[in-house]
Amino acid sequence: MLAILHPNTALDSEEYRQTMHYLENLPNVSVRVHEVQGATQRLTEIYLLGDTKPLNKEEIEALPAVERAIRISDDYRILGRHRDDRRQSGFTYNGVEFNQSNLNIFAGLCAVDVPEHVDMMMQALEDHGEVCTRMGAYKPRTNPYSFQGHGKGCLPWVFEKAGKHGIKVIAMEITHESHIEEIDTCLEKLGRPTGVMLQVGTRNTQNFELLKAIGRQSTYPVLLKRGFGITLNESLNAAEYLASEGNANVIFCLRGMKTEAGQPHRNMVDFAHVPAVKRLTRMPVCVDPSHSVGSREQSPDGILDVMHATAQGVIAGANMVLVDFHPKPEKALVDGPQALLMNELPAYLEDIRLCHDTWKKRQAIYQRLKDNTPE
Ligand code: PEP
Ligand code: MN
Repeated sequence: MLAILHPNTALDSEEYRQTMHYLENLPNVSVRVHEVQGATQRLTEIYLLGDTKPLNKEEIEALPAVERAIRISDDYRILGRHRDDRRQSGFTYNGVEFNQSNLNIFAGLCAVDVPEHVDMMMQALEDHGEVCTRMGAYKPRTNPYSFQGHGKGCLPWVFEKAGKHGIKVIAMEITHESHIEEIDTCLEKLGRPTGVMLQVGTRNTQNFELLKAIGRQSTYPVLLKRGFGITLNESLNAAEYLASEGNANVIFCLRGMKTEAGQPHRNMVDFAHVPAVKRLTRMPVCVDPSHSVGSREQSPDGILDVMHATAQGVIAGANMVLVDFHPKPEKALVDGPQALLMNELPAYLEDIRLCHDTWKKRQAIYQRLKDNTPE
């Protein structure tokens, strides 16, 4: 059971004290308080765990500080979308809004290499009014002898350049909890010229200790990639690990599944799951067409498979696109062959906008159908 308190209930108010007194004395029930800071108000959610079957929803709703109660299932308690659950999805980070209705594009380098390329990428984004990017500093590689990313060493100049080009959020994968502090220390030292969304890669989706460590901080939101060889339910539970530790600012990223059946693509594109994730949870959903498709192959219609896959995700309601670009793919240290080119950026952005608008129009068509259908 979840008890949602009236917005901005003060934790030292009499209503709060009475409500907590009642809840904490329920037999065989433990109480977990979760604070949600929205753009305009603070919400307190109280999760009642344990033997909650005998609890009466109306009785909980009659408590002085409680606005409403929701009976929640055991799956994805915090991030899930439960019956009668009208809670909002999403969050704002560093002035950028992330929710299940809007769309943010994170085009950038798979791996940071040299300052010149980072600058060219960010300049192009700035020219097109984009405020988000992807920049890999810590790279998880299959082969231990492959380039592992510049790590902590590149952070100062990447963050400085981001600030210079008006970039507000950088999606950056971390592979160890110590990287959170490296990022935080560096941003703090520079006066926070930009923001970071911590990315958990597909190889770490079930690295539970890493998830718990990331979940314990709420300075940085998280982009969790779906595990490439596990069920959707297992990946969604991995996201819930972050929330259960306190950080519910999570975006879920589809990036394709590892199977021979996906060929000729690097992975089996799984973007039909965009609406499924939005139905099962309140997380904004991201698609990564670059790591799904993994090449610059093009169909006879003159459109690259990466672009087609992006369109499929966005037209189905995706809220974020994470995509590899590179000014000189032949010089890229990681994943050059799948990178889109600078001169493809304007058309790509236009295509994405078209698909997002089309998704909105599709929603309107079905809304009209619903409005005209008798109950
Ligand atoms: C990436 O986005 O750079 C990456 C390594 O992706 P994934 O974890 O999905 O393979
Ligand atoms: Mn990559």
